[in-house]
Amino acid sequence: MGKVLGRHDLHTHTLYSDGQNTISDNIRAAVSNGLDTVAITDHCFDSDDAEWLPSLVAEIKDIKAPINILAGVEGTILDTRGTLSVDEAIAGKLDIVLVDLGKLTQGVYTNAPCDPGKLCRNIADAYIYACGNPLVNIIAHPFNVGRLQANICIDDFPDNLLMQVADAFVAGGKAFEIMNMMSWWFPSMPVKELTRSYLRVVRIFAERGVIFALGSDAHSACGVGNLGWANQIVEKVNLHNQLIERITYK
Ligand SMILES: [Zn+2]
Repeated sequence: MGKVLGRHDLHTHTLYSDGQNTISDNIRAAVSNGLDTVAITDHCFDSDDAEWLPSLVAEIKDIKAPINILAGVEGTILDTRGTLSVDEAIAGKLDIVLVDLGKLTQGVYTNAPCDPGKLCRNIADAYIYACGNPLVNIIAHPFNVGRLQANICIDDFPDNLLMQVADAFVAGGKAFEIMNMMSWWFPSMPVKELTRSYLRVVRIFAERGVIFALGSDAHSACGVGNLGWANQIVEKVNLHNQLIERITYK
């Protein structure tokens, strides 16, 4: 069993991928911001291109800090069958694995159907299958659909489809990340509107019994522990008793 996570930021990037600072910079920022746990989760887009990972893990092991530090990656869901960019050899070295939908996701970001209903179904399927994969701990920024070429929005997902996805989260024991910079994924939507729209999703997931994780998705140390918007969501839906408490290490 893992450690109690407490006040956490389970999604940060460093120079190992596209972040701007070192692991030690991120950890110092986490300590300064009063976190109990920080995860280093650099991007892993291809399991054949992860030769940097042992060094990331070794560096984290060597650092002495008064908080929990988790070694992780942010992988990608590659298609609507939930194929991941992370395999067992990679996940086995890590404390935590996040996966997201991104540029590489076939059937969602590329070769996506024009019909909004079909696209929503594809996104739901990608999540449902990924939730069945034991390597995954957290789904990063779920429903990050505001930068898709097809013009869909969160409101296009009907309640019953969201419930199906939520049930897959519960069955697979996956955490739903409340990502602080969700607004980045919705450049043409006012933040207030996004918040309203996202709250419907979070409420449905909370009612179905899903657990939640908080992440800044910081790409520089000054963003580590920046969880203002995420904490607003926690308050508004009263998620205090549904926040992830520990990670079961693989
Ligand atoms: Zn990220």
